[in-house]
Amino acid sequence: MAGSGKFFVGGNWKCNGTKESISKLVSDLNSAKLEPDVDVVVAPPFVYVDLVKNSLTDRIEISAQNSWIGKGGAFTGEIRLKPTFSFLARDFIKHFCLYVSLTISHNVEQLTDIGCKWVILGHSERRHVIGEDDQFIGKKAAYALSQGLGVIACIDAVPSWDNVVIAYEPVWAIGTGKVATPQQAQEVHVAVRDWLKKNVSAEVASKTRIIYGGSVNGGNCAELAKQEDIDGFLVGGASLKGPEFATIVNSVT
Ligand code: PGA
Repeated sequence: MAGSGKFFVGGNWKCNGTKESISKLVSDLNSAKLEPDVDVVVAPPFVYVDLVKNSLTDRIEISAQNSWIGKGGAFTGEIRLKPTFSFLARDFIKHFCLYVSLTISHNVEQLTDIGCKWVILGHSERRHVIGEDDQFIGKKAAYALSQGLGVIACIDAVPSWDNVVIAYEPVWAIGTGKVATPQQAQEVHVAVRDWLKKNVSAEVASKTRIIYGGSVNGGNCAELAKQEDIDGFLVGGASLKGPEFATIVNSVT
């Protein structure tokens, strides 16, 4: 663990589940013994966020899987939020999936209204399957900036890096069962940290949590978690199984 703060494990449920299976998953998570020293976040499909929020232990925070680029209005099917910050850094957005923490704002907006604390931006499935491009993802970030933060061309203007977690997810490893070796992941995490050091600051580089995603499961998490620069995981498929997800959360020990 190189980033300061706690080990971070996010479960991205993607577009999976029904009321029945999600209730079972929530009940498994509620009864799982989770290491206290790990930040745990799950991202249910939007239609179930409220259900999950109302039934899941407060020990686990909720994330959205996407958000609209601006205020609400005539945008059929979109979900709006009012983030208090985000940032625009094209090089950065191009390569990494970001978890950007949201702080509850005074204005009641949809995601914060239902208790989401996080949103996933820039996941490769949104780029490659849905067709979001850098420009669109940039607009989402720009909207956040338009809420009084200004456009940031150099990312050291991010007000608080404490709430940003970077997920490195090799596309070939997502949902394929092919996981990066601990050494491969470690190498890339070091490169990301170096990038932060050069482009932001040494302090941010040493503090920011860089997590790995791509076919993480109960069997491979322990070896990955031992790597110095792996500060947590973003888990897709295995996060749909409560006991296995708990094993991943507890792999930091
Ligand atoms: P996976 O998904 O664990 O199913 O490979 C990871 C992700 O998409 O974040």
